[in-house]
Amino acid sequence: MSESGDRTDLASESDATEKAVEFVASSRLRRGASAHQIQGLFRKIDLVLDTKIGEAQARQPHPVPIACHAGCDHCCHRVVFSTDLEAMAAAIHIQQRFSNAQKEALEGNLAEYAKHIGPKMGRDLGLDRRPCPLLEDGLCSIYEVRPISCRSQFSASVEACREARDNPGIEFPASQPESAIGSAAAAGLRSGMSASGLWPNSVDFARVLGIVLTDEEACEYYRSGQAIFEIAEPVAEVKSHPLAQPTPKHGGYGEEEEATGQPDDSCLTQARFLLKADGDAESAFAQGPVDSALHQMFRMQVPLSYGHTDEIEYWRNRMIRAFEEFKASPFDAREKFDAISVYNPLSLSYQQRNDKELLSDIGDYLTHEISATVFPDLCRPLPKRRRQGKLKVGYIAAQLSQTSGSYWASGWLKNHSKDVEAYAYYLAPTLDPGAVQYQRYAHKFYHCPGPVGPTARLIKEQNLDVLIYPDVTAEARSIQFATLRLAPVQCAAWGCPETTGLPNVDYFLSSEWMEPEYAQAHYREMLVLLPGAGICYPRPSRSGMGWTKSHFGLDDGPLYLCTQLPPKLLPQWDGLFREICDRTGRPIVFFSYPYTAAAATERRLKAAGVRAIFMPILNVMQFYDLLALADATLDSVGWSGGITTLLTLQQGRPVITLPGEFRRGRQSMAFLRAANAPGLIAADANDYVDLAINADRRQSALETMHPDALFDNTESVRALEDFLFSACRD
Ligand code: SF4
Ligand code: SF4
Repeated sequence: MSESGDRTDLASESDATEKAVEFVASSRLRRGASAHQIQGLFRKIDLVLDTKIGEAQARQPHPVPIACHAGCDHCCHRVVFSTDLEAMAAAIHIQQRFSNAQKEALEGNLAEYAKHIGPKMGRDLGLDRRPCPLLEDGLCSIYEVRPISCRSQFSASVEACREARDNPGIEFPASQPESAIGSAAAAGLRSGMSASGLWPNSVDFARVLGIVLTDEEACEYYRSGQAIFEIAEPVAEVKSHPLAQPTPKHGGYGEEEEATGQPDDSCLTQARFLLKADGDAESAFAQGPVDSALHQMFRMQVPLSYGHTDEIEYWRNRMIRAFEEFKASPFDAREKFDAISVYNPLSLSYQQRNDKELLSDIGDYLTHEISATVFPDLCRPLPKRRRQGKLKVGYIAAQLSQTSGSYWASGWLKNHSKDVEAYAYYLAPTLDPGAVQYQRYAHKFYHCPGPVGPTARLIKEQNLDVLIYPDVTAEARSIQFATLRLAPVQCAAWGCPETTGLPNVDYFLSSEWMEPEYAQAHYREMLVLLPGAGICYPRPSRSGMGWTKSHFGLDDGPLYLCTQLPPKLLPQWDGLFREICDRTGRPIVFFSYPYTAAAATERRLKAAGVRAIFMPILNVMQFYDLLALADATLDSVGWSGGITTLLTLQQGRPVITLPGEFRRGRQSMAFLRAANAPGLIAADANDYVDLAINADRRQSALETMHPDALFDNTESVRALEDFLFSACRD
């Protein structure tokens, strides 16, 4: 057998392993993730893994002797990665088999381990050579239920393993074919978990084990599809500028070819990096290839941070000029449709102006000049249908993770009455658990990662009455669809910060408490005011890790926190933060999210005299802990908190807000009203500072607060349905 023949055999063996494990996992987990199901599942996976490894070994033409033996433990000096489910399987085994003394000792080891690994915040875990907390006298204490990565760890050389243990830069040897079969089994398990609504991410096995052994509630949340073990995920760091990509070939459509809407946009890698990570818009927009439709569209955006308020107008004018250039450019309409995949109106929303006119001009051009040319059959008006029976309502989104601008709408979807037949269309390539929630609640769910035309025709042919875009401008792929006419009534909703400006979006589903008087002047769409805060947010987990201020590197003094993304912090409000620092003598903790020009914002705040501490990105459980420790969280003015405000109030901590001019600056105000804590809504800038420095005022406002009222509130769903039934009549 030739060498390439061996590789082909191994590839097909791996493929078969992945499929077998995926099948086992999805069929078992469909019946639930009880202890019984989990144990049964891993017994089956072990069988598959042992069989496949045995078969693959037997096929080796020149097998290399394996050096592994009991008591050889160099490879156990590392961070072991697994799925959460493998840690749960180990926890079940420990609960059933370990004595109380063993359990106590292990919990101590795991706590020590968490203390050591926690401050790394998920970084450089592959370089850690601490012994695994499950190791007892050189032997694995959970040998029968060790994770897949341990089961498939083999080596031909003890010496090579010793060298890797002593030199963290050197990887442990991974003997083939065992390692390939192990990776395939792990991939199959993840796919099966994902299909069953469980988070399939790779986590630090020992950290998750430490949580599940001590927090039964955490397991319940996990089983319900919540991403509560994110704290144990490894975090990839951007260490340097990515290399500039070679310029791809754009356009080149044959005469009869249809635009896909999915161009190769790797030519923008460097430009994106400069814009988002460095905040260097000038250099980003000067990056080549400047004469492509994609790049021209890329320039139709504004930076995510500003050094001075004057820059806002400057960049706005630059964006308008870029739009004029895009309109005048000679590209094929199909190339221009592809270019919509990088349109970024969200950047404009951060400027906190009324963008109705500009977004409407752009929306007209995208819809009438580009989409109507490329997809004439998908842009014609559709008559409303008069018919008996259920209302067919579709939801469409390109992002459904639990922090996205669309996930919240799963509360509407879940609580529709029997008079509604719900459809959901998910446009991203990979299904995540947020998407699985949609899958669970919709009567029909379609995963549509492919070209725009066939997906749009599928939707149109289903004769929906209504199509709802929960966060259309957050994802350019959604915008491509929203330029089309796929249902007689099309709506945008709360996850979109302002008007879409798109003529084929008829209504904007908003909140009576968020919108100011005369709000219709901010929207191209007809505004629909749903009662109260207008949304039905699924109750989130509130489990933290019990971290204290010292875990976050903070001192014991009062904690002032601003949880909002740096792009929401415009220069005109820096003075408020400075005054709070001056009058309290305390710093304010901000977040240094990657790719959001945090560095430029940090420089500006510090130059303005704000004592700012920038915290690296946290996993969700760390985030809950930090929120719970805050004496006061300071809302960004102009574009206030949304989901972060809900989570902060759920932790019983105060959010101090100063309502802005537009709906996006009034979200926290609506949530504070809904939670009955209006005392935290400032009347003006002076009042905002006073609330921040006056602990008694905050405390008295918290006394009336009922955060439970914020979640699973179905009043808005009933009002939404009333509106939709009336809008769909002829
Ligand atoms: S992988 Fe290396 S350290 Fe681990 S048992 Fe085998 S030979 Fe020993
Ligand atoms: S779980 Fe067991 S086999 Fe895996 S690293 Fe830890 S002690 Fe070693």
